[in-house]
Amino acid sequence: MSFPIRFVLCETTHPGNIGAAARAIKTMGFSDLVLVNPQEFPSREADARASSAVDVLINARVESSLEDAVADCGLVVGASARRRSTRWPELDPRECATEVLRVSSSSPVAIVFGTERSGLENEQMDLCNALVYIPANPDYSSLNIAAAVQLIAYELRMAQGEPDPGQAPEFPPATAADMERFYEHLWKVLTDSGFLKPDNPRQLRRKLRRLFNRARLDENELKILRGMLSSVEQDNAGEQDEQDEQAEVVAQRRCS
Ligand code: SAH
Repeated sequence: MSFPIRFVLCETTHPGNIGAAARAIKTMGFSDLVLVNPQEFPSREADARASSAVDVLINARVESSLEDAVADCGLVVGASARRRSTRWPELDPRECATEVLRVSSSSPVAIVFGTERSGLENEQMDLCNALVYIPANPDYSSLNIAAAVQLIAYELRMAQGEPDPGQAPEFPPATAADMERFYEHLWKVLTDSGFLKPDNPRQLRRKLRRLFNRARLDENELKILRGMLSSVEQDNAGEQDEQDEQAEVVAQRRCS
Protein backbone atom coordinates (compact mmCIF):
# COMPACT_ATOMS: atom_id res chain seq x y z
CA MET A 1 0.00 0.00 0.00
CA SER A 2 1.32 3.43 -0.80
CA PHE A 3 0.09 6.95 -0.20
CA PRO A 4 -1.58 8.91 -2.98
CA ILE A 5 0.72 11.33 -4.77
CA ARG A 6 -0.46 14.89 -4.28
CA PHE A 7 -0.34 17.61 -6.92
CA VAL A 8 -0.34 21.08 -5.39
CA LEU A 9 -1.04 24.16 -7.51
CA CYS A 10 -0.12 27.48 -5.90
CA GLU A 11 -2.03 30.69 -6.59
CA THR A 12 -3.14 29.62 -10.01
CA THR A 13 -4.42 32.64 -11.93
CA HIS A 14 -6.37 31.03 -14.78
CA PRO A 15 -9.14 28.63 -13.77
CA GLY A 16 -8.78 26.96 -17.17
CA ASN A 17 -5.31 25.85 -16.15
CA ILE A 18 -6.71 24.24 -13.00
CA GLY A 19 -9.14 22.24 -15.13
CA ALA A 20 -6.45 21.25 -17.60
CA ALA A 21 -4.17 20.18 -14.73
CA ALA A 22 -6.99 18.05 -13.27
CA ARG A 23 -7.36 16.35 -16.62
CA ALA A 24 -3.60 15.79 -16.88
CA ILE A 25 -3.57 14.23 -13.42
CA LYS A 26 -6.51 11.93 -14.08
CA THR A 27 -5.27 10.73 -17.46
CA MET A 28 -2.15 9.44 -15.72
CA GLY A 29 -4.14 7.65 -13.03
CA PHE A 30 -3.84 10.17 -10.17
CA SER A 31 -6.57 12.09 -8.37
CA ASP A 32 -5.15 14.02 -5.44
CA LEU A 33 -5.28 17.75 -6.25
CA VAL A 34 -4.71 20.54 -3.74
CA LEU A 35 -5.16 24.21 -4.63
CA VAL A 36 -3.42 26.87 -2.60
CA ASN A 37 -5.24 30.21 -2.87
CA PRO A 38 -6.56 29.79 -6.39
CA GLN A 39 -7.66 33.10 -7.88
CA GLU A 40 -10.99 31.69 -9.10
CA PHE A 41 -12.36 28.36 -7.96
CA PRO A 42 -14.75 26.65 -8.43
CA SER A 43 -15.17 27.87 -11.94
CA ARG A 44 -17.06 26.98 -15.07
CA GLU A 45 -13.95 27.34 -17.15
CA ALA A 46 -12.09 24.94 -14.91
CA ASP A 47 -14.92 22.41 -15.27
CA ALA A 48 -14.95 22.83 -19.03
CA ARG A 49 -11.19 22.31 -19.36
CA ALA A 50 -11.25 19.34 -17.00
CA SER A 51 -13.59 17.52 -19.37
CA SER A 52 -14.20 14.10 -17.79
CA ALA A 53 -11.91 14.88 -14.88
CA VAL A 54 -14.45 17.08 -13.09
CA ASP A 55 -14.44 14.54 -10.26
CA VAL A 56 -10.83 15.53 -9.55
CA LEU A 57 -11.97 19.15 -9.22
CA ILE A 58 -14.90 18.21 -7.01
CA ASN A 59 -12.59 16.33 -4.67
CA ALA A 60 -9.85 18.98 -4.77
CA ARG A 61 -8.90 20.50 -1.44
CA VAL A 62 -8.41 24.23 -1.14
CA GLU A 63 -5.80 25.49 1.31
CA SER A 64 -4.78 28.97 2.31
CA SER A 65 -1.07 28.21 2.66
CA LEU A 66 1.44 25.90 1.03
CA GLU A 67 2.67 25.00 4.47
CA ASP A 68 -0.73 23.52 5.31
CA ALA A 69 -1.00 21.82 1.94
CA VAL A 70 2.18 19.83 2.49
CA ALA A 71 2.33 19.56 6.28
CA ASP A 72 1.95 15.76 6.39
CA CYS A 73 4.36 15.05 3.51
CA GLY A 74 7.61 13.17 3.84
CA LEU A 75 8.85 14.57 0.54
CA VAL A 76 7.97 17.84 -1.19
CA VAL A 77 9.28 18.55 -4.67
CA GLY A 78 8.89 21.99 -6.23
CA ALA A 79 8.49 22.14 -10.02
CA SER A 80 10.35 25.10 -11.39
CA ALA A 81 11.02 26.47 -14.85
CA ARG A 82 14.09 28.12 -13.42
CA ARG A 83 17.10 26.17 -12.24
CA ARG A 84 18.23 27.11 -8.79
CA SER A 85 20.30 24.08 -8.07
CA THR A 86 22.74 25.94 -5.89
CA ARG A 87 20.11 25.92 -3.17
CA TRP A 88 18.00 22.88 -3.91
CA PRO A 89 18.99 19.51 -5.19
CA GLU A 90 17.77 19.32 -8.74
CA LEU A 91 15.99 16.30 -10.19
CA ASP A 92 14.81 15.68 -13.70
CA PRO A 93 11.26 14.35 -14.08
CA ARG A 94 12.45 10.75 -14.24
CA GLU A 95 14.58 11.01 -11.12
CA CYS A 96 11.72 12.87 -9.46
CA ALA A 97 9.35 10.01 -10.28
CA THR A 98 11.68 7.39 -8.83
CA GLU A 99 12.18 9.34 -5.64
CA VAL A 100 8.51 10.25 -5.24
CA LEU A 101 7.44 6.63 -5.66
CA ARG A 102 10.08 5.41 -3.24
CA VAL A 103 8.98 7.77 -0.49
CA SER A 104 5.25 7.40 -1.20
CA SER A 105 5.39 3.84 0.05
CA SER A 106 5.85 5.18 3.56
CA SER A 107 4.47 8.71 3.62
CA PRO A 108 2.43 11.25 1.64
CA VAL A 109 4.39 13.09 -1.05
CA ALA A 110 3.65 16.36 -2.84
CA ILE A 111 4.73 17.92 -6.09
CA VAL A 112 4.22 21.67 -6.06
CA PHE A 113 3.61 23.94 -9.02
CA GLY A 114 3.93 27.74 -9.03
CA THR A 115 1.76 30.52 -10.29
CA GLU A 116 1.67 31.17 -14.03
CA ARG A 117 3.40 34.51 -14.13
CA SER A 118 6.24 34.15 -11.70
CA GLY A 119 6.48 30.50 -10.68
CA LEU A 120 7.43 29.39 -7.18
CA GLU A 121 8.79 32.02 -4.79
CA ASN A 122 11.97 31.18 -2.95
CA GLU A 123 9.92 31.14 0.25
CA GLN A 124 7.74 28.44 -1.29
CA MET A 125 10.81 26.55 -2.47
CA ASP A 126 12.04 26.72 1.12
CA LEU A 127 9.30 24.21 1.95
CA CYS A 128 10.61 21.83 -0.70
CA ASN A 129 13.20 19.08 -0.35
CA ALA A 130 14.16 19.22 -4.00
CA LEU A 131 13.44 20.99 -7.26
CA VAL A 132 12.26 19.27 -10.40
CA TYR A 133 13.18 20.94 -13.66
CA ILE A 134 11.79 19.70 -16.97
CA PRO A 135 14.70 20.00 -19.40
CA ALA A 136 13.55 22.55 -21.94
CA ASN A 137 14.80 25.18 -24.34
CA PRO A 138 17.16 27.30 -22.20
CA ASP A 139 15.90 30.40 -24.03
CA TYR A 140 12.27 29.57 -23.20
CA SER A 141 11.87 26.94 -20.56
CA SER A 142 8.51 27.95 -19.14
CA LEU A 143 5.86 25.36 -19.97
CA ASN A 144 2.20 25.96 -19.47
CA ILE A 145 1.46 24.75 -15.95
CA ALA A 146 -0.91 21.98 -17.07
CA ALA A 147 1.68 20.78 -19.59
CA ALA A 148 4.24 20.65 -16.77
CA VAL A 149 1.81 18.68 -14.60
CA GLN A 150 1.18 16.29 -17.49
CA LEU A 151 4.87 15.56 -17.99
CA ILE A 152 5.61 15.00 -14.34
CA ALA A 153 2.53 12.79 -13.97
CA TYR A 154 3.47 10.82 -17.09
CA GLU A 155 6.93 10.06 -15.74
CA LEU A 156 5.35 8.93 -12.49
CA ARG A 157 3.09 6.59 -14.37
CA MET A 158 5.97 5.16 -16.38
CA ALA A 159 8.04 4.68 -13.25
CA GLN A 160 5.17 2.89 -11.55
CA GLY A 161 5.59 0.25 -14.20
CA GLU A 162 1.83 0.08 -14.24
CA PRO A 163 1.12 -3.03 -16.24
CA ASP A 164 -0.30 -1.87 -19.53
CA PRO A 165 -1.89 -5.03 -20.86
CA GLY A 166 -2.45 -3.39 -24.23
CA GLN A 167 -4.58 -5.19 -26.74
CA ALA A 168 -4.61 -8.96 -26.56
CA PRO A 169 -2.95 -10.29 -29.70
CA GLU A 170 -5.32 -11.65 -32.32
CA PHE A 171 -3.27 -14.83 -32.70
CA PRO A 172 -0.50 -16.37 -30.64
CA PRO A 173 3.02 -15.74 -31.87
CA ALA A 174 4.66 -18.27 -34.14
CA THR A 175 6.99 -20.50 -32.15
CA ALA A 176 10.65 -20.96 -32.97
CA ALA A 177 9.87 -24.47 -34.19
CA ASP A 178 7.14 -23.09 -36.49
CA MET A 179 9.65 -20.62 -37.85
CA GLU A 180 12.20 -23.37 -38.52
CA ARG A 181 9.61 -25.35 -40.50
CA PHE A 182 8.79 -22.20 -42.42
CA TYR A 183 12.47 -21.60 -43.23
CA GLU A 184 12.91 -25.19 -44.46
CA HIS A 185 9.92 -24.66 -46.70
CA LEU A 186 11.20 -21.30 -47.91
CA TRP A 187 14.71 -22.64 -48.69
CA LYS A 188 13.20 -25.49 -50.66
CA VAL A 189 10.94 -23.25 -52.74
CA LEU A 190 13.66 -20.68 -53.35
CA THR A 191 16.19 -23.37 -54.27
CA ASP A 192 13.76 -25.04 -56.66
CA SER A 193 13.00 -21.71 -58.29
CA GLY A 194 16.72 -21.05 -58.74
CA PHE A 195 16.68 -17.91 -56.59
CA LEU A 196 18.75 -19.50 -53.86
CA LYS A 197 21.99 -20.86 -55.28
CA PRO A 198 23.09 -24.04 -53.54
CA ASP A 199 26.76 -22.96 -53.69
CA ASN A 200 26.59 -19.80 -51.59
CA PRO A 201 23.23 -19.37 -49.98
CA ARG A 202 24.28 -18.75 -46.40
CA GLN A 203 24.47 -14.96 -46.44
CA LEU A 204 21.12 -14.63 -48.15
CA ARG A 205 19.50 -17.14 -45.85
CA ARG A 206 20.73 -15.21 -42.87
CA LYS A 207 19.35 -11.96 -44.24
CA LEU A 208 15.98 -13.54 -44.93
CA ARG A 209 15.89 -15.02 -41.45
CA ARG A 210 16.66 -11.60 -40.01
CA LEU A 211 13.85 -10.06 -42.04
CA PHE A 212 11.23 -12.59 -40.97
CA ASN A 213 12.41 -12.84 -37.38
CA ARG A 214 12.19 -9.08 -37.06
CA ALA A 215 8.55 -9.20 -38.11
CA ARG A 216 7.70 -11.43 -35.12
CA LEU A 217 5.04 -13.27 -37.06
CA ASP A 218 1.97 -14.73 -35.46
CA GLU A 219 0.59 -18.20 -36.21
CA ASN A 220 -1.90 -16.88 -38.70
CA GLU A 221 0.61 -14.82 -40.64
CA LEU A 222 2.90 -17.81 -40.80
CA LYS A 223 0.07 -19.92 -42.13
CA ILE A 224 -0.49 -17.36 -44.89
CA LEU A 225 3.20 -17.41 -45.81
CA ARG A 226 3.26 -21.22 -45.82
CA GLY A 227 0.14 -21.16 -48.01
CA MET A 228 1.90 -18.78 -50.42
CA LEU A 229 4.91 -21.07 -50.62
CA SER A 230 2.71 -24.11 -51.21
CA SER A 231 0.82 -22.34 -53.99
CA VAL A 232 4.12 -21.44 -55.69
CA GLU A 233 5.21 -25.07 -55.35
CA GLN A 234 1.98 -26.34 -56.88
CA ASP A 235 2.25 -23.84 -59.67
CA ASN A 236 5.80 -25.00 -60.38
CA ALA A 237 4.72 -28.60 -60.19
CA GLY A 238 1.87 -27.82 -62.63
CA GLU A 239 4.30 -26.15 -64.98
CA GLN A 240 6.63 -29.08 -64.65
CA ASP A 241 3.77 -31.49 -65.47
CA GLU A 242 2.92 -29.42 -68.52
CA GLN A 243 6.54 -29.43 -69.65
CA ASP A 244 6.73 -33.18 -69.08
CA GLU A 245 3.55 -33.68 -71.09
CA GLN A 246 4.85 -31.60 -73.96
CA ALA A 247 8.14 -33.46 -73.95
CA GLU A 248 6.23 -36.72 -74.06
CA VAL A 249 4.15 -35.57 -77.05
CA VAL A 250 7.31 -34.52 -78.90
CA ALA A 251 8.93 -37.84 -78.11
CA GLN A 252 5.88 -39.77 -79.27
CA ARG A 253 5.77 -37.76 -82.52
CA ARG A 254 9.42 -38.53 -83.13
CA CYS A 255 8.80 -42.21 -82.59
CA SER A 256 5.80 -42.39 -84.88
N1 SAH B 1 7.40 32.25 -15.43
C1 SAH B 1 7.48 31.24 -14.44
C2 SAH B 1 6.95 29.95 -14.96
C3 SAH B 1 5.59 29.70 -14.52
S1 SAH B 1 4.90 28.35 -15.31
C4 SAH B 1 8.89 31.03 -13.98
O1 SAH B 1 9.76 31.62 -14.55
O2 SAH B 1 9.12 30.26 -13.06
C5 SAH B 1 3.93 27.70 -14.02
C6 SAH B 1 4.52 26.52 -13.33
O3 SAH B 1 4.65 25.43 -14.24
C7 SAH B 1 5.88 26.70 -12.75
O4 SAH B 1 5.86 27.37 -11.52
C8 SAH B 1 6.34 25.27 -12.58
O5 SAH B 1 5.77 24.72 -11.43
C9 SAH B 1 5.75 24.63 -13.82
N2 SAH B 1 6.76 24.60 -14.92
C10 SAH B 1 6.72 25.28 -16.08
N3 SAH B 1 7.81 25.00 -16.81
C11 SAH B 1 8.55 24.12 -16.10
C12 SAH B 1 9.78 23.43 -16.33
N4 SAH B 1 10.52 23.62 -17.44
N5 SAH B 1 10.21 22.57 -15.37
C13 SAH B 1 9.49 22.36 -14.24
N6 SAH B 1 8.33 22.99 -13.98
C14 SAH B 1 7.86 23.85 -14.88
